[in-house]
Amino acid sequence: MAMRELARALVAECGEDSVSAAPEALSAASVDESCCAPALPELVFWPRESAHVQRALGLCGALGIPVTPLGALTGKSGGAIPVRGGLALAMTRMNRILEISVEDMVAVCQPGVITGDLMKAAETRALFYPPDPASLKECTVGGNVAENAGGPRALKYGVTRDYVLGLEVALMSGALLRTGKRSIKGVAGYDLTSLFVGSEGTLGVVTEITLQLQPLPRAVVTALLCFTSLDGAARAVTAILTGGCLPRTLELLDDTAIAAVDGAGFDFPPGARAALIVELDGESSPRLMKELDALALKCAPFDLRDVRAAASDAEREHLWEARQRVSRALLALRPFKVSEDVAVPRSKIVEAIARVKAIGAAHGLLTATYGHAGDGNLHVNFLYDDEALRPAVTRATAALMEMTLALGGTITGEHGVGLAKRDFLPLELGATSLGLHRQLKSLLDPKGLLNPGKVI
Ligand SMILES: Cc1cc2nc3c(=O)[nH]c(=O)nc-3n(C[C@H](O)[C@H](O)[C@H](O)COP(=O)(O)OP(=O)(O)OC[C@H]3O[C@@H](n4cnc5c(N)ncnc54)[C@H](O)[C@@H]3O)c2cc1C
Repeated sequence: MAMRELARALVAECGEDSVSAAPEALSAASVDESCCAPALPELVFWPRESAHVQRALGLCGALGIPVTPLGALTGKSGGAIPVRGGLALAMTRMNRILEISVEDMVAVCQPGVITGDLMKAAETRALFYPPDPASLKECTVGGNVAENAGGPRALKYGVTRDYVLGLEVALMSGALLRTGKRSIKGVAGYDLTSLFVGSEGTLGVVTEITLQLQPLPRAVVTALLCFTSLDGAARAVTAILTGGCLPRTLELLDDTAIAAVDGAGFDFPPGARAALIVELDGESSPRLMKELDALALKCAPFDLRDVRAAASDAEREHLWEARQRVSRALLALRPFKVSEDVAVPRSKIVEAIARVKAIGAAHGLLTATYGHAGDGNLHVNFLYDDEALRPAVTRATAALMEMTLALGGTITGEHGVGLAKRDFLPLELGATSLGLHRQLKSLLDPKGLLNPGKVI
């Protein structure tokens, strides 16, 4: 009854084509890229402007209907799965870049803009939006804000939070909140912008984003460094980072990750058991090539076998495509996988990588470790071919989380807690912090209707 009333009101105010209860629309909104079970919403709503979102939240609040925001559904923690049914609030049609200001070096956009499109638009004005999740050709800026997404370039440039100057957020009360500013500096009041960044759609729905941009680097050099041992590659990461050079990316692929993408349009040299994708940026290519030589020298004692610098933009792109394919390509090795994204302090990278392999072996599971090794953020995958192994995967995941926390790390570096890591959150936060999280949630969403069942 309440759902029919909601549908009627949304159609009347936002147009016939703004809602659907067709089975294919509900099914498409039921699942993301996590390993979490799908759950169907009862209705999907595609707002086109902030006022539509405001209205939808106001109606859901009044009618007691759960509402789950979603972007491109590339999330890896189940955050956009509508576990309590209700309304799926699909932000993908709010996809306009509203402004790119060269003078202020800011971009203003709606949340449904694809991240890669924003980057390209900035580049046409010699500006640079650095956060580069490997899903950038599909994911939305709103989803990135909600997850505080990172990417390979976070090593040098930081994560989404470091670029969000201000937000417009629709609240469950039906109000529209503006946070932050358009200047680099600004400390008036509490930092509400930071509160919403990374809140995984549980505190409010982001309807507009103001991002700071940087000057586009003049030169970029990308190279693949292959090693004959995983331990060597891990030690090379530490040697590079402590050697006074800060590449913009330092991405690791272990032997399993290499096996998943080797030969599929990109060939690794024989004997490669691990690889690092190193990217440097700066003023000129010759200077960067010298830096690359110096960096390779630092890696030489650690089983370095081969250094290949990309000779053209096409080669660079090719290398990054191989990296971006890893997540999905792993499924060709085993039909099932559970993928985690723990992060550890830099001093613990070597130990963490070794202990992941030990955890896999102890539970009879194939592991793949790849990702943003330079900032300690490791995408650990447990791969298996039979659902009977699921209990072993659960035990291995718990061991991974315990190991990570014992090393002073965090259960999620960038994918968020969502559903997938909800049970582990208390281990990291402790009672006082968790209590404050609950108080904040109930202040902004007293009926618990916004993205229910997630995070806490
Ligand atoms: C192949 C692959 C590679 C990936 N690589 C990376 C990576 O390198 N780094 C990284 O950080 N992540 C990565 N991810 C994960 C994912 O792409 C990011 O988490 C991304 O930010 C999700 O964006 P989305 O638009 O798909 O959001 P969705 O998956 O649709 O939603 C994610 C969360 O954001 C909330 N949400 C969405 N839009 C809004 C909004 N407007 N307001 C409030 N809440 C909202 C949802 O409720 C949900 O909780 C990868 C995923 C894949 C499949």
